[in-house]
Amino acid sequence: MTDPHTPDMADDEASLQAFRAEVRAFVAHALPHAVREKVRLGLEVSKQELVDWQQRLARRGWLVPHWPAAWQGCDWSAERRAVFQEELVLAHAPESGGISLEMIGPILIRYGTPAQQQHFLPRILNQEHWWCQGYSEPNAGSDLASLKTRAVRRTRPDGSEVYVVSGSKIWTSYAQYADWIFCLVRTDTEARAQQGITFLLIDMRSPGVSVRPLVGIHGWHLFNQVFFDEVEVPVENRVGDENAGWSIAKSLLEHERLNLARVAENRRRLAKVRAIGAELEEGGQPLLQRPWFARRLRALEVRLEALAATVLRFRRQARAGQALGPETGMLKLLGSRLIQDIENLAVDALGPDTLAYDRAAHFEPAAPEPGRSAYAAAASARRFVTRGYTIAGGSSEIQHELLAKQVLGL
Ligand SMILES: Cc1cc2nc3c(=O)[nH]c(=O)nc-3n(C[C@H](O)[C@H](O)[C@H](O)COP(=O)(O)OP(=O)(O)OC[C@H]3O[C@@H](n4cnc5c(N)ncnc54)[C@H](O)[C@@H]3O)c2cc1C
Repeated sequence: MTDPHTPDMADDEASLQAFRAEVRAFVAHALPHAVREKVRLGLEVSKQELVDWQQRLARRGWLVPHWPAAWQGCDWSAERRAVFQEELVLAHAPESGGISLEMIGPILIRYGTPAQQQHFLPRILNQEHWWCQGYSEPNAGSDLASLKTRAVRRTRPDGSEVYVVSGSKIWTSYAQYADWIFCLVRTDTEARAQQGITFLLIDMRSPGVSVRPLVGIHGWHLFNQVFFDEVEVPVENRVGDENAGWSIAKSLLEHERLNLARVAENRRRLAKVRAIGAELEEGGQPLLQRPWFARRLRALEVRLEALAATVLRFRRQARAGQALGPETGMLKLLGSRLIQDIENLAVDALGPDTLAYDRAAHFEPAAPEPGRSAYAAAASARRFVTRGYTIAGGSSEIQHELLAKQVLGL
């Protein structure tokens, strides 16, 4: 089914409301109850469940609304996209494959050769290829440009040109599921750090690639370390020019600036805390009425509404054709911190029930226990997962530094 909307059509309130109802009805019908429950309770969705959900979105024409129409995109306005994302998040739909669909897909659309686009984009869309991101290294995180994974160009006996890659990447999310990895590698050791970096696409099945799992404090196998031991990568798998990978890497950060506030996700998590507050009792009263809980809940609600209003202000600015400045950096800072505080309140409310560690409970709802909230099993793990939100994609300290320099001129 195609969407009749085009960017030229104004999205007035009525059409946005109608669209919201359409998305809500679709999700109510298409999202399996078991998956919805897992997301609601903070459990891990399996790769297969995610593939199934994304296939349903693809059949509806809504898998990659942010891509250009030529690649199954929808050409929606920013408001329409925001409504779509909000409805998905509020209905407890799993987050769609961020690394493939939000990162490498848009990069290939913008910088890939026609041959790379023709080969990779259809395989991303039909989910034959899952991707992971190989930027960070054991000694290169915030200071990413100091990365050392080396790529040396060599001609093979048959005359073909390859890069021989050696080194390692760390904190590589979901590398255990990935078929391909996009990497920043050093191709020039003499040039200024940023100028000697190249962007390569590497098949995870290449000889010399190995993956070591890193299980986090939350018990989740999210991270990995990926090792490259003299891995041969065809020169055709380079995106952009040799030594021009830094500007491509940076352009990723421009995507989805306004979504970094995670307003809808914050709303969903706050609704969870409210549900916990209504379910539990303390001193014969619902937790919602206990002053310590009510006070913290209200403070979080106020912060969320202030954040939502700020995002709306930026959206209006973008809609009026005004450029968004570096002050949008505050959105990630505020949104990620808010999520952590919400999850902290959930753990404080659920108390000692969150302490028992049950790995199986990451994947399937725990059997009901009298007097124990269904939210308890994953609450602690979820709190630790959100700890990473103020680190990934630029830590809070780095964000503060950027705001201080670029916005406040300090
Ligand atoms: C959930 C999650 C998922 C991730 N997924 C991926 C992935 O898929 N692929 C990938 O490549 N990477 C991934 N990362 C890694 C992430 O990009 C890095 O953790 C991040 O860039 C920080 O680097 P670091 O861990 O080396 O910390 P460091 O850079 O060593 O920082 C350590 C501490 O020092 C502070 N600090 C550093 N420099 C400064 C400074 N100049 N001024 C003030 N304070 C400073 C930091 O804020 C931090 O508190 C992920 C991280 C997380 C948490």
